[in-house]
Amino acid sequence: MKPDLFEAPDYYNLDELLSDEHKLVRQAAREWVKRDVSPIIEEYAQKAEFPEQIIKGLAEIGAFGPYIPEEYGGAGLDQISYGLIMQEIERGDSGVRSTASVQSSLVMYPIYKYGTEEQRKKYLPKLASGEWMGCFGLTEPDHGSNPGGMTTNFKDKGDHYLLNGAKMWISNAPFAQVAVVWAKNEEGRIHGLIVERGMEGFSTPETHNKWSLRASATGELIFDNVKVPKENLLPNKSGLGAPLGCLDSARFGIAWGAIGAAMDCYDTALRYSKERVQFGKPIGQYQLQQKKLAEMITEITKAQLLAWRLGVMRNEGTATSAQISMAKRNNVEMAINIAREARQVLGGMGITGEYSIMRHSMNLESVITYEGTHDVHLLITGLDITGLNAFQ
Ligand SMILES: Cc1cc2nc3c(=O)[nH]c(=O)nc-3n(C[C@H](O)[C@H](O)[C@H](O)COP(=O)(O)OP(=O)(O)OC[C@H]3O[C@@H](n4cnc5c(N)ncnc54)[C@H](O)[C@@H]3O)c2cc1C
Repeated sequence: MKPDLFEAPDYYNLDELLSDEHKLVRQAAREWVKRDVSPIIEEYAQKAEFPEQIIKGLAEIGAFGPYIPEEYGGAGLDQISYGLIMQEIERGDSGVRSTASVQSSLVMYPIYKYGTEEQRKKYLPKLASGEWMGCFGLTEPDHGSNPGGMTTNFKDKGDHYLLNGAKMWISNAPFAQVAVVWAKNEEGRIHGLIVERGMEGFSTPETHNKWSLRASATGELIFDNVKVPKENLLPNKSGLGAPLGCLDSARFGIAWGAIGAAMDCYDTALRYSKERVQFGKPIGQYQLQQKKLAEMITEITKAQLLAWRLGVMRNEGTATSAQISMAKRNNVEMAINIAREARQVLGGMGITGEYSIMRHSMNLESVITYEGTHDVHLLITGLDITGLNAFQ
C-alpha cells in the first residue's frame, strides 16, 4: 500500500467550531491511524483478519468509551470528541471503527447506562483498557430490521436464567470475552444480559467469505441452555428502547466515521488527479474530473456541518433518534458515493490494494446496512415528519 499522505480537508474552516481539546483528541487519533493502522490495514483486509495488535492503541487514543466517565476507565470526553475519534479511525478503516463503536456504544454504554454499580465496576475499566473486548447481540437470522420480533429468550430458573437462541452478524463476536445480549423473558419483554465467554452452551462461530469489513471479525452467538447468573441482567432499562438507545449512540459515531472514509477517498483522488497525466495534462485539469472532486468536497462539507450540529445537540441532550437517523443515512450515502466516484478518478489503480479507496467502498456496503439500513432510516424520517408509521 502507498504511504499515508492524508491531509484532512476543511473547506469551511470548521476547525473554528472546535475547542483545543477537540483538536488535541483528533490529532492523537489521526497520528495513531497514520502510524499503526495505515501501514498494516490493507494486508489484514486482504487476508480477512482482525489486527488484534491495534487493540492497545485504540484504548490509548480513548476510542473505548470516549464519553464514559473517567472513574470507570473511560476518557470522559464530550460527544464531538467521540465523533472526531470515530472520524479519524474510519479514515483508516470502517472495520476498525466498527470494533471501537461496538465496544463503546453497544457494550460499555448499556453497561454504564442500564447496569448496576457492581456491573459498571466489574466490566467498564477492563473494556476501556481493551483487556476485555465486547460484542452486542441484537440481530437474529430471522429478525434484522425488525429486532422486536426476536426469539432469543431466557427463563427464570430460581438462582439463574436459562438462555436459548441465536444471533448473527455480530461484530467482534469471534474474540469477545463479553457479550451484551438482548433476549425476551417469559412475558415477552426484551432485557439485556451480560454473557461471558466460557459459559457452558455459549459459542461464537466466525462468519467467513465477507467482501466487506474484512479487517473486522464477524460471527454468530449461539446459546444452548446457557446458565446466566442473575446478577448479569441489566436492570435499569428494558423493552426495545433499551437496545435502540445504544444504537443512537453508535449511529451518531457512524455519522462522523463515514466522513473519515469519504475524506480519505477524496484526498487520495485529489492527489492522484494532480499527478496522473493523460493526453499531456494532469487529469485534474479536465472538467469532468474537477466536477467529481468539487462535488465530493461540497458533500463532505455538508456532512461535516450535519455531524457537528448533531454533536452540539448530543452534548445538550436534545438530539432525537430521528435526527441521528438522518445524519447516519445522509453521511454514509455521501461516503459511499464519494468512494465510487473517487475510485473512477484513479482508473485501474483504483481497484487495487495500493490505494485505500476500493477497501473503503466495500466496507461502506456494510456501514450502509448495519445499525439500521439506509431504507429503515428513511422510514424513520418519514414517520417523524408525517406521524404515520410505514413499517407496519
Ligand atoms: C458486517 C456486519 C456487522 C454487523 N454487526 C452487528 C452487530 O455487531 N450486532 C448486531 O446486532 N447486528 C449487527 N449487524 C446486523 C445488521 O444490523 C443487520 O444486517 C441490519 O439491521 C439489517 O438486517 P438484515 O440483514 O436482516 O436485513 P433485512 O432486515 O432482512 O432487510 C433486507 C432489506 O429489506 C429492507 N426492509 C426491511 N424492512 C423494511 C420495511 N419495513 N420497509 C421497507 N424495506 C424494508 C431493508 O432496508 C433491506 O434493504 C451487522 C451486519 C453486518 C453486515
